[in-house]
Amino acid sequence: MKIKDVRTRVLRVPVKSPITDAYFSHKARNHVFVEVETDEGISGLGEAGQYFAVSSVPPLIREGFRPYLIGQDPAKVRELWDTLYKRSFLYGRRGVAIIALSAVEIALWDIIGKSLKEPLHRLLGGRRVDRVRAYASGGFYKPERDLIREMKTFVKSGFTAVKMKVGFDPEDDVRRVKVIRKEIGGDIDLIIDANMGYLPGTAIKVARELENQEILWFEEPVSADDVEGLREVKKNSGIPIAAGENEYTEFGFRELIEKRAVDIVQADVTRCGGVSQAKQIASLASRRGMQHAPHVFGSIVGLVASLHLVASEANGYILEYDQTEDPLREEIIDQYVDLKDGYLAIPEKPGIGVEVPSRLLTKYADKS
Ligand SMILES: [Mg+2]
Repeated sequence: MKIKDVRTRVLRVPVKSPITDAYFSHKARNHVFVEVETDEGISGLGEAGQYFAVSSVPPLIREGFRPYLIGQDPAKVRELWDTLYKRSFLYGRRGVAIIALSAVEIALWDIIGKSLKEPLHRLLGGRRVDRVRAYASGGFYKPERDLIREMKTFVKSGFTAVKMKVGFDPEDDVRRVKVIRKEIGGDIDLIIDANMGYLPGTAIKVARELENQEILWFEEPVSADDVEGLREVKKNSGIPIAAGENEYTEFGFRELIEKRAVDIVQADVTRCGGVSQAKQIASLASRRGMQHAPHVFGSIVGLVASLHLVASEANGYILEYDQTEDPLREEIIDQYVDLKDGYLAIPEKPGIGVEVPSRLLTKYADKS
């Protein structure tokens, strides 16, 4: 089997109200898909976790990756990844080049699975569990009344763990977290995410004030560039610390893991370099007693690929299930995942097994 073509599609899906965290405000859900077509009629679909400068991905793939990929055997995924990593080294290593490479690599795994008629988790060593626990990811900044309503809706839909944003005004953040804890009751796991909004001193103060609120983890308390700061926060707070959505490849994660700066790593398959990298990162983390709770904020390709990953990993912890408005996801999600008692079943379709209908690719195609 040989690769015949590599195409990129950028989708812009408008949302009713802006999605705001401590770092940014999104006015649309932007999705980037990469389709890899083979000469045997099998195609793979990958996703790039690039939310903002989305139009940076297509030229990078077209000029940097596509000429090399045409004619290659997609099953040589490791060799292709290594070559593309080296070829993009001068402008890559982190950020958008690795995000684009992630999408290509995911599409290659999709092809391998389809050609062998096996779901991804079987190619990764088989599933270790029958179902994967998921948490409702949302709780972006909004008026308190709306936040309470959102969190209660998550609980009503069966989630046993929910996430809300902090990282704004520390005093108000602490107050809002306590309000939410009271409103959802003591049995629901509550995760807080600062999106790098604090400095270490503030993060430690916030963590201490929330120590008796039974927080499942405190996510990205400080900048992804401040690994020492993260370590400081971890040492001085009684709440588990999680980070990694802004880290790339096993080389980038090595520092985070070896310095024991976190309790939970959050490699994102659509950003960290793809399936093999996420697996390798989880494995490095596992040797240090850390869990992997993959970051997922994008479309269904990333969500389902992460589901396969968590199911196969020794330290697969819990899956982020983005519940924030996304008309694209809402139109097709029911075909791929089914939430029961806060758990998701493990997909059994060959490969990653997600298709985005051409009707939706046209409807949301980027026209800018
Ligand atoms: Mg986060």
